[in-house]
Amino acid sequence: MMATSTYKVVVLGGGNAAGYVAKSLVEASPDTSLCIVGREEVLPYERPALSKAFLFADPPARLPGFHTSVGGGGVRQDAAWYADAGVDVKLSTEVTGVDVTTKTLTTAAGDTVVAEDALIIATGAAPIALTKTPGWGLDGVYTLRENAEGLRLYDALQAAKGEPVVVVGGGYIGMEVAAAAATVGCQVKMIYPDKHMMPRLFTPEIASHYEKYYTDKGIELLYDGRLCEEILGDDEGKVRGVVMCKDGEKTEVAAKVVVVGVGARANTQLFDGAVEMEAGGIKVNGSLESSAAGVYAIGDVATFPLAMTGGMTRMEHVQNARETAAHAVASILGKSSGDYDYLPYFYSRVFDLGWKFYGRNEGTSVTVGNLKDGLASVWVDDGKAVGVFMEGGSDADTAAMVALARNCPAVDVGALKAATSAAELLAA
Ligand code: FAD
Repeated sequence: MMATSTYKVVVLGGGNAAGYVAKSLVEASPDTSLCIVGREEVLPYERPALSKAFLFADPPARLPGFHTSVGGGGVRQDAAWYADAGVDVKLSTEVTGVDVTTKTLTTAAGDTVVAEDALIIATGAAPIALTKTPGWGLDGVYTLRENAEGLRLYDALQAAKGEPVVVVGGGYIGMEVAAAAATVGCQVKMIYPDKHMMPRLFTPEIASHYEKYYTDKGIELLYDGRLCEEILGDDEGKVRGVVMCKDGEKTEVAAKVVVVGVGARANTQLFDGAVEMEAGGIKVNGSLESSAAGVYAIGDVATFPLAMTGGMTRMEHVQNARETAAHAVASILGKSSGDYDYLPYFYSRVFDLGWKFYGRNEGTSVTVGNLKDGLASVWVDDGKAVGVFMEGGSDADTAAMVALARNCPAVDVGALKAATSAAELLAA
């Protein structure tokens, strides 16, 4: 029999941001009834773990170890925590329909979940699938977004120790997965068309440090115009390699496993025509409310006004998932002290290296240092420092980075260029 259940607040999507909605709402208003509806079979967790110790550590990181909100300094919200808090989490539940006027979700099973006060959309993003690339459906081709995909990829990498693995994509997922696969003992090749790794953030100088590090670790980098044009299979439908193409010249590259990390698209499909969209996401205002009253969007799916520039932006960063969750809850409870004011922050960890970035990577960049002793970049736009990247670094360095990206002090590019170390650069 179809069931209808009603709550004050309902979250669609049971991922990273949803866990932080539960944290914030339970802390601020424990009596407000909350339901999270998500299609994964596990409670909300810190998704960045999937491409890190999850893939290579011995023993590997596994749930329940990294449920939210451990990454944000909170408690680990396991099943007992949700039960104690009275938060209803509907796992393995795909939402197939949404009525934003009545704030009602319909599940694949035909049940309905109604939000009396607020519906929060937290559907995240999905990896871009290379559906037009021949061989896409072969056994041995992986993407990485959800826990179940991570488990399958882990098994595949374990089974491919000493064997060739191709990672398609030179962004952070490609970099992290390639590092994990190499650590496991696979023979890794990365294929990406860009001039260098992480082209959306890294300067050529930063990229060259990482490219050298990866090459020293035995990873072969096939980039600068090189595209994966086809995935090749054997008679049993299992991957045996890819066809790489550059300037019309085709080369076969052997692979037992192919991992594709070429970006993600926000999961907005359920809302096409129902709410306003912008920049590939659901458009929200400074309260994170969409064009439909009482319907909020947070995390990767939301396109929000970036207070520091006034422009509309969408951020696929875990810190944004955490902070939008807290801000939406404050807005819904009438406890917000102003518009959402996010300082863009992104981090990654590969091998034994970790880096952080704060602010905006716009304008001219000055890069100083090396990976061993500390590497930093500062971006200068219109005479002001607007963004900063640092490899390694102490807590004091992080505080300096935050202050710089927040306050955007006037700086002299010449003085920055004269710095001889990352520490000097941050101080200049
Ligand atoms: P998600 O965490 O993706 O949650 C969305 C949830 O909604 C999913 O569980 C999905 O199944 C569910 N859902 C979607 N549609 C439906 C539906 N119709 N019905 C039911 N449920 C639905 N960020 C960093 O800053 N640093 C990192 O190092 C980093 N590493 C990452 C590594 C990986 C492998 C990935 C995939 C992401 C990483 N990120 C990182 C990005 C970060 O994880 C995301 O920004 C964050 O997860 C966004 O949270 P979210 O809740 O918006 O989306």
